[in-house]
Amino acid sequence: MQAPSVGGVMLPRGGGETIRLSRGASLTDFAEKIGANPASLVAVMMNLGEMVTATQSVSDETLTLLGDEMNYTVQIVSPEEEDRELLESFSIEFGEDEGGEEMLVSRPPVVTVMGHVDHGKTRLLDAIRKTNVVAGEAGGITQHIGAYQVATEVNGEERAITFIDTPGHEAFTAMRARGAKSTDIAILVVAANDGVMPQTIEALNHAKAADVPIVVAVNKIDVEGADPTKVRGQLTEFGLVAEEYGGDTMFVDISAKQGLHIDSLLEAVVLTADASLDLRANAEQDAQGIAIEAHLDRGRGAVATVLVQRGTLRVGDTMVAGDAYGRVRAMLDDKGQNVEEAGPSTPVLVLGLTNVPGAGDNFLVVDEDRTARQIAEKRAARERNAAFAKRTRRVSLEDLDKVLKAGLVQDLNIIIKGDASGSVEALESSLLQLDVGEEVEIRILHRGVGAVTESDINLATGSDAIVIGFNVRAEGRATQMAEREGVDVRYYSVIYQAIEEIEAALKGMLKPEYEEVELGTAEIREIFRSSKLGNIAGVLIRSGEVKRNTKARLIRDGKVIAEDLNIAGLRRFKDDVTEIREGFEGGINLGNFNDIKIDDVIATYEMREKPRG
Ligand code: GDP
Repeated sequence: MQAPSVGGVMLPRGGGETIRLSRGASLTDFAEKIGANPASLVAVMMNLGEMVTATQSVSDETLTLLGDEMNYTVQIVSPEEEDRELLESFSIEFGEDEGGEEMLVSRPPVVTVMGHVDHGKTRLLDAIRKTNVVAGEAGGITQHIGAYQVATEVNGEERAITFIDTPGHEAFTAMRARGAKSTDIAILVVAANDGVMPQTIEALNHAKAADVPIVVAVNKIDVEGADPTKVRGQLTEFGLVAEEYGGDTMFVDISAKQGLHIDSLLEAVVLTADASLDLRANAEQDAQGIAIEAHLDRGRGAVATVLVQRGTLRVGDTMVAGDAYGRVRAMLDDKGQNVEEAGPSTPVLVLGLTNVPGAGDNFLVVDEDRTARQIAEKRAARERNAAFAKRTRRVSLEDLDKVLKAGLVQDLNIIIKGDASGSVEALESSLLQLDVGEEVEIRILHRGVGAVTESDINLATGSDAIVIGFNVRAEGRATQMAEREGVDVRYYSVIYQAIEEIEAALKGMLKPEYEEVELGTAEIREIFRSSKLGNIAGVLIRSGEVKRNTKARLIRDGKVIAEDLNIAGLRRFKDDVTEIREGFEGGINLGNFNDIKIDDVIATYEMREKPRG
């Protein structure tokens, strides 16, 4: 066979050698490996009937196809494999306990709570947290660090359980997708008054796919119409058969709200762990584990909650977590207390890292600072390359539909910045799960914790990405830069809202935008206390008009001290009215909100649809 030639240029055809390429590599990467000109590979692909640009990241199939054509055996290396090789080059093995059986000691199970929205996951995590505090420990104020440990008595023995307290399977899946196994047992919460719902099944499938045993918490048994038996029946269809019906899944009826049977649930977790898992780890070696949550703290710098999976982590250790590294300056446990060391299955908050690792990133202790820095830098470089390899054109959510129709883009590139790695991961995995049809693919170019920076805008400019800020804002000159470059930056504080908008944009039906319109202001002149309604503000309407059931904020000495209030009640003399105009007096009741003072101003507003310009 002839070597392929393009425009008279002979291409360096291989002799069947193997070349290794990272998943998501571009033709430029390929060209570099074989010493060819990227443009010629673009031409080869065109001959094969595929239009790709030189720097676009391509699928495994395309790389293999090109390899066949050029007579190379292409080996695609996954990010996990690459990372393993990186660690191996430092003679580090991640994920295996050192030494033999005799080195292993038992460790507590690590539990994630999953289930349908509103079925009580958060409430349950709170209830469990509280059962532990009753033990009367000094300084027992638990801190939300992303995970906590509780103790429970089973067969006369005190047993510990670790809970990851970011509920929901998004975080779980995001971690698993990155090859991190964080969870030993899943508690599936099902509300007895609602029964099995779509996310119940989703959660169940995720747990099964991860091969994680499930304990079912049938919640809200205090609610009228609760039917725990029905839940058992429904779950049978999905292969979860209750022990009392001859199956091997433990079901516990609970009320998270009333704190009912929480102990039995904890016992069921321990019994399930004992029956189906061999939870042991080497507690002597250098610590390894995963980061479950991390954020930037104004005073303390990068703060990361890590779960030690094997070994013991100590203050003073040098660690690397994802692309962050540093010496452990201090560690705090879930009660906010300083600790010197943390063994297997223990979550601790670590201070001293150079930057913020991602949720699901692995961490390990190494002997030398230099090693930690090198590993972290190599990882950061890899991430950057991967992001830059995916450059395409610039786009905004509004014109996405048009551009898609014109066939100009096939990918919606997104950069996510958020306040904590957990939320960023959750947003990312939810976005990646959006079903948006064949023509378009969502790509997360970059994600990170912290404000939207100039470097984010740069990346967006170069790759036509939109930027999502979740509970964060732009910093420095990033806003001006985004405006100048025409980069679409969007801010959200609710995950599902972000997802809905992106989904709507992809379907070409972006919802109208709303803007706030001020309706009126009222000055508080007197305060009446009502045993039934709480505090009622006697007001004079200063401007516009105040309407019932509109939104309001409370301003004291020029400062907003409460947002998102509601004009729950409006009266003139003894009558309920729907509005009061400027210059008139009346009474305003702000619902549950009672913190009002004379001279405060109640400003009311409405959200109105903004015409698209
Ligand atoms: P999540 O979305 O699964 O985290 O659900 P939440 O924990 O936020 O609970 C949703 C709602 O159900 C909240 O209003 C809780 O107070 C309520 N709830 C949770 N558990 C119980 C329970 O055992 N009984 C009752 N009556 N309400 C509950």
